[in-house]
Order: sequence, then C-alpha cells, then structure tokens
Amino acid sequence: MDKVVIGVDVGGTKTTAALATRSGQIIKLMRVQTKREEGAEGGFKAICKMVQNLLEEAKKHELNVIGIGVGFGGPVDFERGVVYLSHHVHGWENFPLRAELEKRFGIATFVDNDANAGTLGEWMFGAGKGINDLLYVNIGTGIGGGIISGGSLVRGWKNLAGEIGHMTVNPNGPVCNCGRKGCLEALASGEAIGREGTKRFGRTMKSEEVFQLADQDNEIAKQIIAEAVEALAFAIGAAANLFNPKRVILGGGVGEAPEHLLIEPLKALLPRYTLPQSSEGLEIVRAQLGYDAGIMGAIALAITVRQE
Ligand SMILES: [Zn+2]
Repeated sequence: MDKVVIGVDVGGTKTTAALATRSGQIIKLMRVQTKREEGAEGGFKAICKMVQNLLEEAKKHELNVIGIGVGFGGPVDFERGVVYLSHHVHGWENFPLRAELEKRFGIATFVDNDANAGTLGEWMFGAGKGINDLLYVNIGTGIGGGIISGGSLVRGWKNLAGEIGHMTVNPNGPVCNCGRKGCLEALASGEAIGREGTKRFGRTMKSEEVFQLADQDNEIAKQIIAEAVEALAFAIGAAANLFNPKRVILGGGVGEAPEHLLIEPLKALLPRYTLPQSSEGLEIVRAQLGYDAGIMGAIALAITVRQE
C-alpha cells in the first residue's frame, strides 16, 4: 500500500484538513467553519470528524496513512504535543491534542504552531525548496516566523524560536499584542500599518488601503510604509547576523505588497543592519504557497517529523 499523510490546519474559526502524498500532492481537501463559542471541544470534534473522513478515503484507495500533522494557530509545546493556548478560542489551554488524536486513531501525530508549520511548508513545497538556511516571516494581522538552519527547523527548548514578530525594534514604540513595547509586530504588521493609517489620515483604514495609496504616490502613505519597512529591515538584519540565512521568505497579506514598496526598499536597507558579508547575496523573496500555506505546512509537518 502506498504511504500517505494527513495534514490539519487549525485556525481561529476555520479548520482545513487534507489527505496528501509524501511529495505534497493533495488527494482530498476539506474545509469547515467552526464557531468560537463552541470552544476547543467543538474544534476538536471537527478535527476528528475530518480525520475520520480522510481515513475512509485513504482506505477506499488502498492508501496507508503513516502520520498526521497538525498546524495550530497558537503556541504549542511540540515535545509533548500539548497546545499552550489559542488567542481566539477558549478551552485550548493545555489541551493534549497529540495524545487525544493518537488515542483515537492510532496514528503517529505531530502538533506544532502554524508559523513553524508554515516555515516547513515553504521549505519543502514553496519558495524555500532546496535552501538549507532560511528565514520565513509571515506578515499578516500579526507577524510570525520560523528558521531553517543547517537543513532543520530550529525550535528552541520551549518551541518558541523564530518569534521575530516580538523582537524589540523600538523600546519606546507602540504597545504590542504581547504587552511589551515596540515589537516588530507593533510596527510592521498589517494591524500596525492600518493603525498608523487610521491615525494619520483621521479615518478608519486597513493596511491594504495604505499600500494602495502609497502605490499611487501619496506621501503620507509612503511614509507609513517606509517606517514599517525600516522596522522589518532592522529585525531581519539582526536575524541575518545571528544565523546567516541564504534566503528570506516574506509571506502573509503584507508579504504580497508590490515589490517596489516592500522587497526593493528592504533589500536597499538591509546592508545598514547586517554585516556586509551576510547581506551580500542574501535573497529576499515572496512566499509561494499563499492561501494554501497553512494546510501545506501541516502536511510538511507530518512528512518531516516522520523522517526524523
Ligand atoms: Zn510583542
């Protein structure tokens, strides 16, 4: 029987699951909306139902599911497979997700946060293919990230490595979602750019609109974006000095901004914050998986850990 895996991407209100080959080809994909008020219990039920369904599909095609990978939208204790918490849904505190799934399905299961899973996804199937030293920065509402160094994912002793979003860029900067001041996330995330737009234009604005105006040469919008890019250059430059990546991959909604507003100025600024040898030849590229980043990350997780 051919060996396949199941990936599950657990978001705040949306869970996606897929049956896939070990080269990342999706055989069957499912998506469900979950209600926040149903809490972890409702979320877990939805996960089980989807996995059950995909196992039946595998059986139908005489495929052998050898691993389940779960990318979770919140911090996870990878070693124990326990969710620390969800920022969006109650009841996930200390939920032993790996043990519960293994008990139910009898298949080796691996649970990690979605930033680490997304890093693995881009590395195996996206913009990081074949690159053994890379930094992944996902710039959406918040900023997440992950590090591949020497051909493996860097997790750290509590699975908290790669949290570039909470690198302090300006100690006197705006308050971050984590409660501290001047983190990269508080200066350059979609939320931060929208907040600055709202403040300086005097009306409610989202980051997309700030980018649009900057693209149309609006000076205030250009200034807001320039400040966000400066913060990104600072943080990415510091990371580059620490572990000397070959490629930096920018994902998330903000990562899709026009090149001349994001990637080009970032490239121009990096030498200011990185040793010349480190910034020379350092590639900055856009993520490739886009909307599929979450599910491809979960599939990658099932595959990678299985091989370790
Ligand atoms: Zn923070």
